[in-house]
Amino acid sequence: MKKPEDFLYDLFDKFAGFILCVLVKPDMEIEKITDLSEDEIDELVKNDIKGLIVDVDETLRFNGEDISSENEDWINMARTKLKILILSNGMDIKLVDKFSEMGIDYIEFALKPFKHNFKKALNILNLKPEEVAVIGDDLFDDVHGGNRNNMFTIKVSGAKKLVKSNKSLR
Ligand SMILES: [Mg+2]
Repeated sequence: MKKPEDFLYDLFDKFAGFILCVLVKPDMEIEKITDLSEDEIDELVKNDIKGLIVDVDETLRFNGEDISSENEDWINMARTKLKILILSNGMDIKLVDKFSEMGIDYIEFALKPFKHNFKKALNILNLKPEEVAVIGDDLFDDVHGGNRNNMFTIKVSGAKKLVKSNKSLR
């Protein structure tokens, strides 16, 4: 049986999730990052978007695994059209090396949705907020973070998202 504090925690979690869904809206929602097609990127470019801030976990990769070749191809396509910067709340030394080899700026431990590293990203990209789109799976970190910095926001629904669990499936 659930302990009372677990019940309260679940209730609070559901309530917070509901409030977040009501208050925070992305400008665009897609299932996975590759659903943002070359044509749609061209459309963003026509609307004066010049840069893209990309989240890592559950956006470019899932469950801490390597970035798939499909998503890597997508980055390489997107970077021909837009300046790309990776903004992650996590830290992975393999990714630091990978993005450095690719010549892509990567800010780790970003503490999204705080503004500090969004501003740092703008400085690196040398762009204004309204010239930048943020793409990520998290409504609070990525979408709220982008919205409060006046950026265009794209939410990845993270359909592949799996939660590691010890519970057996019934
Ligand atoms: Mg994420």
